[in-house]
Amino acid sequence: MQTTVKGKQMFLAGKWEDRGTVIKVFNPEDGRLITTVPKASAEDAVFAVEMAKRGADTAANMPVHERMAVLEKTAAYVANHRDAFIQTIVAESSKTIREARGEVERCIQTLRLSQEEARRITGETIPFDQMPGHDNRIGYYYRFPIGVIAAITPFNDPLNLVAHKIGPAIAAGNAIIVKPASLTPLSALMLAEAFEAAGLPKNVLTVLTGSGQEVGDTLVSHPAVRMVSFTGGLETGEAIARKAGLKKIGMELGSNCPTIVLDDADLSHAVDACVSGAFSTAGQNCIGVQRIYVQSSVCRTFEDNFIKKVQTLKTGLKYLEEMDMGPLINENEARRVEAWVNEAVDKGAEVLIGGKREGAFYMPTVLKNVPAGCRIAHEEIFGPVVLLYEAADLDDAIEKANHVDYGLQAGIFTNQIDAAMTAAQRLNVGGVMINDSSDYRIDSMPFGGVKGSGLGREGVKFAIQDMTEPKVVQFNLKP
Ligand code: NAP
Repeated sequence: MQTTVKGKQMFLAGKWEDRGTVIKVFNPEDGRLITTVPKASAEDAVFAVEMAKRGADTAANMPVHERMAVLEKTAAYVANHRDAFIQTIVAESSKTIREARGEVERCIQTLRLSQEEARRITGETIPFDQMPGHDNRIGYYYRFPIGVIAAITPFNDPLNLVAHKIGPAIAAGNAIIVKPASLTPLSALMLAEAFEAAGLPKNVLTVLTGSGQEVGDTLVSHPAVRMVSFTGGLETGEAIARKAGLKKIGMELGSNCPTIVLDDADLSHAVDACVSGAFSTAGQNCIGVQRIYVQSSVCRTFEDNFIKKVQTLKTGLKYLEEMDMGPLINENEARRVEAWVNEAVDKGAEVLIGGKREGAFYMPTVLKNVPAGCRIAHEEIFGPVVLLYEAADLDDAIEKANHVDYGLQAGIFTNQIDAAMTAAQRLNVGGVMINDSSDYRIDSMPFGGVKGSGLGREGVKFAIQDMTEPKVVQFNLKP
């Protein structure tokens, strides 16, 4: 018997719309079809931009208190419907119920931060008379909205990463078109429902479901789009940067984050934080711990305790409260992770625990002695695999930690202030977490990377900077 599934509509310039062709959305755990979403076309993307041009005028003319009210109401809507949001995240993504709950709370915070920051988009007065010949002038600059923003988002935080684009865009008075990941479009559509219910004027927000290749491409290259705000993989980011032309680009890309453990550290805390950092969201986390450098004298103890802790992790059905880890986003991804681990093992790496796959599930895996030439040693695994390395001292650990093409965040466990400060200065990343793993973040801090990890910063206030431009106003008092 064939069961029919009621399809979802997309939110195009204030209207909910169907299309003849659809994208199927599956539950990664069992491959069950959850629903479908419309497969928007390139023409839909062009139409969305045309409508967003009108939306940009509307948004720019909304007084700040109205933008704040919409953001406040949206946050309240998400809070009042939190169970539905949690269920949606668990269904479409690979998050466990506890992880989904955490993401919904963060989304509410991101929206509230956006509301708060809206009132702080300010400028400065400019002392023009600092230059001889410029007396009798006064003036200032203020920040004005950039216009139409295209936001493209990945699958791993399907709600909060979308909120990190829409919240700041609306706070700043822009119109925004979101193209969510085709694997996880449902949370983004629910967030559009929340903004609609909160009274966001028509045309200010579109959530266009469709393929990155087709819809994404059209949005990225459209001249009326003034900024592309992208979160996703390095390869896609580079392709977008090549096509974008003369517009701003914000790039939140991947990483293979390092964490250093020195011999004076609180090892028990370091173990707990590194296990959580490596395996939350089944390792599908841009700041997840991928490489751990442990000082030689404590390496054995750290390794033993780390493995003991990993043995306690429960991997299985996402809806069960006791589960620590769910599946990967699909079986193909689990197979890719398996292939990368197998390559490392063939080249001499040792599997301390894990290394097994069942369908879309890949068991928490710890590798040791991974040779430098393996893919997993320098690329982003984006799965539940962590690499343990011995480091002679801090210098050795920093050098190895920096020896990759990524630089998002890093962690260091130590109680020596000079070691902590040296690491903070010399680790080539966007954020150094002392006595926390690389996997530490709050939604208001500047967040982003260097090298292959991206350009620009998110974290509401910083995204708003990128989504606005300064305009100078000068008065010549004695013309
Ligand atoms: P992805 O494959 O790069 O896809 C991300 C988005 O880009 C999707 O919406 C995708 O659409 C779209 N896309 C694909 N090809 C495109 C093109 N040619 N033009 C425009 N858009 C295109 O990334 P993912 O696998 O979803 O996510 C994992 C990656 O995101 C990891 O590398 C992770 O580290 C990174 N990430 C970074 C951060 C951060 O803040 N730094 C946060 C989370 C994740 P389709 O789905 O339709 O293909």
